[in-house]
Amino acid sequence: MTPVDSVLSLVRPDILALSAYSSARKEAKGGRVWLDANENPETPSAHQPLLNRYPEPQPADLVAQLAALYSVQPAQCLVTRGSDEGIDLLLRTFCRAAQDAILFTPPTYGMYVVAAGIQGARTVTVPLIREKNFALDAAAVLKAVGPEVKLVFLCSPNNPTGGLLDRAAVLSVVKALATRAVVVVDEAYVDFSGQPSLAAEIPSNPNLVVLRTLSKAFGLAGARVGTTIADPAVIAVLQKVIAPYPVATPVLQAALAAITPAGLAAARESVAAIVAERARLAAALAKLPAVKKVWPSDANYLLVEVADSAKAMAAGRAAGVVWRDRSKDVPNSIRLTIGTPAENTATLEALQALVVY
Ligand SMILES: *Cc1c(COP(=O)(O)O)cnc(C)c1O
Repeated sequence: MTPVDSVLSLVRPDILALSAYSSARKEAKGGRVWLDANENPETPSAHQPLLNRYPEPQPADLVAQLAALYSVQPAQCLVTRGSDEGIDLLLRTFCRAAQDAILFTPPTYGMYVVAAGIQGARTVTVPLIREKNFALDAAAVLKAVGPEVKLVFLCSPNNPTGGLLDRAAVLSVVKALATRAVVVVDEAYVDFSGQPSLAAEIPSNPNLVVLRTLSKAFGLAGARVGTTIADPAVIAVLQKVIAPYPVATPVLQAALAAITPAGLAAARESVAAIVAERARLAAALAKLPAVKKVWPSDANYLLVEVADSAKAMAAGRAAGVVWRDRSKDVPNSIRLTIGTPAENTATLEALQALVVY
């Protein structure tokens, strides 16, 4: 079996056997009079002349530009409604209900367990090592992967703790699981880390899948544009499962605008400003009596341990500042998103006002 074949052997057999729905726009080539998709010939909006037409299922220009942005090949990319849809597609493609499992490493992003629950997949957990700055326990992950585990989700930088996972440790897991499981590295925040993506490792490791998104660094959370990056054979299987037209036309236009040279320059500037504010906020928070620990962050948020998270959240509410209480994952910890300098000052003032007894 080739390495790619052994990855495909992990796919649900019924999905492998399924033929993809072929939509009108997938089959159409060329043409001048478009009467193949039961569209209305009139558009309701003069401002959006294309809205009466179905979009391309995977718009070729967007796919090409995202591939360039992520330094991969277009055939390795699937554009999804946020990377959340990528997580869901992977679950539905690889995991049989009540039979297969995913592995994830708490404390981490909550969607893995939700997507598993929806699909009826089981879950195996291997905690990150808190004493080592929430490091990946690669040996424990490998030990915990039985034949039922089809997907291993690793989030780097990890949400909510903020740190990158060690690249060599992640790659060692990918290589050790080459024929046994798909390793999904969720890089929603890698743009804020200054470190390279793992996507360059996919050609030599076809069991590696990388998730990227325009939601965070590119400020397009409202547009829902994620990219699943994988071996072209894996992308072809995911194509069978994805909804027919996931990239709405206004979304396509917003995404294309965000990755023009001017859009890229703006995003770089925004990321640099957020990273600078992250350092300022972390240093100032560390001096506050109410703050016990500020975890190091490679992302656009800080996980902060406070004396009492309920009181801290209440102090934020009183000041009109909303944070995320992550105490169920890390006791007495709140996650603070890095905002504008004025917003970050509001965070500091609200926590400064918190009296500690
Ligand atoms: C925000 C986030 C996502 C989801 O991003 P979308 O592209 O907006 O769906 C995925 N993974 C992690 C870890 C996130 O924090």
